[in-house]
Amino acid sequence: THTRGVTLGGHAGCWGGGGGAVFKLLWQPLGGKEDQASFPCFAEGAADLRKWKNRPTEHRKHSEFVTVNFKSSSVEMKLFHSSLSPTQCFLNAIVQCLSHTCGLRDYVLLKRYRQEKCAKEDAKLTEAFSQVLTGLWEEAEAVSVVNPRQFYNVFKEAVPYFSGYSQQDAQEFLRFLLDKLHVEINRRPYVRRTCLIFISFHRISEEAAVMWKKHLERDDSRIVDLFSGQLRSSLHCSVCSHYSNTFDVFCDLSLPIPKRSSGREVMLKDCLDLFSQEEKLDRENSPMCERCTRHTECTKRLSIQRFPQVIVIHLNRFTMSRWSISKSTVYVSFPLTNLDLGPYGPVDCGPVLYDLYAICNHVGTVNMGHYTACCLDENGWCLYNDSSVTPVSENQLQTNQAYVLFYQLIPLHCGGR
Ligand SMILES: [Zn+2]
Repeated sequence: THTRGVTLGGHAGCWGGGGGAVFKLLWQPLGGKEDQASFPCFAEGAADLRKWKNRPTEHRKHSEFVTVNFKSSSVEMKLFHSSLSPTQCFLNAIVQCLSHTCGLRDYVLLKRYRQEKCAKEDAKLTEAFSQVLTGLWEEAEAVSVVNPRQFYNVFKEAVPYFSGYSQQDAQEFLRFLLDKLHVEINRRPYVRRTCLIFISFHRISEEAAVMWKKHLERDDSRIVDLFSGQLRSSLHCSVCSHYSNTFDVFCDLSLPIPKRSSGREVMLKDCLDLFSQEEKLDRENSPMCERCTRHTECTKRLSIQRFPQVIVIHLNRFTMSRWSISKSTVYVSFPLTNLDLGPYGPVDCGPVLYDLYAICNHVGTVNMGHYTACCLDENGWCLYNDSSVTPVSENQLQTNQAYVLFYQLIPLHCGGR
């Protein structure tokens, strides 16, 4: 048996690995001399790394960081029982997904935020998050289950809304977490919002680029580097035919799930099509037309103007009606590799391909639910179910429980960026 990952504490249940544990190291390929000093727990591996660093063929050209793995027979994972409340499974599942987001994991493990940080306040949540990730990724003498309670306490302090022990929504947690981490590690925390000067742009891409630059003037962090993209909402006035665009920053795409038409399975593409489909807005619900200077009937269409490094796709399974919340259990098939979002981007942007690396699942009903995560590392896919981790095959990944999908941009195909 090979140790295939480290779990987060939670429900009862145990899993122990023995023998050749996989020891993971994260290192910057070139010119990162400061990292050795700031990562003392891996000091033993430094010699091997230096050797590795001298082999330029090993570099992945397009990646800032490279993951190094080697097996160490002296490292043995032992079992540790933790007493974590089961209602925190939403946290465990999301943390596992984020901990498999290489760009974030490396940044947090190497504590790079300490060098970048501009805000006067301590990065308390980021430090607590770093502690959990260190527990998950460092070779541990006696621990294979990490208790994220301290991290959750710090999180609840920052977001009191999450206090109490009721079941929380994983997607909501993810949004709050990324937002709070961003605020703590923002490289430009004290830049005031400035007024936009309205210039007429000849090209949509120019306008989008100006808006994006404006965003980065105030909000610039590792979270933005990885997760932020730009959505374009284009309006077409039915009276004067005027086209106008607005641009919004997004950190995830929340997709509606279409009703299953008989005999045909729903694919992720159907959800994306529905999301980007032209929508008719009546006068009451439409924004003011710039040319008519009044509310007119118009059509609206959403598209992705700027693709993020990591695209988080939320399958919106929960529908809130006036009286109740219902859950859709429609099976949505999704590609594990080469998800092409090019058709939802700017015209003629070419293919924009993404590979899946993590899934957050929601099992059960609205009232009695449980979250698990499936994450990919270099050994394959594993199912993380609180304190247990089991290898899974690719054909076990697609279920009607898939709730949040994490895709990484394939760097060679950056069309439209
Ligand atoms: Zn008009």
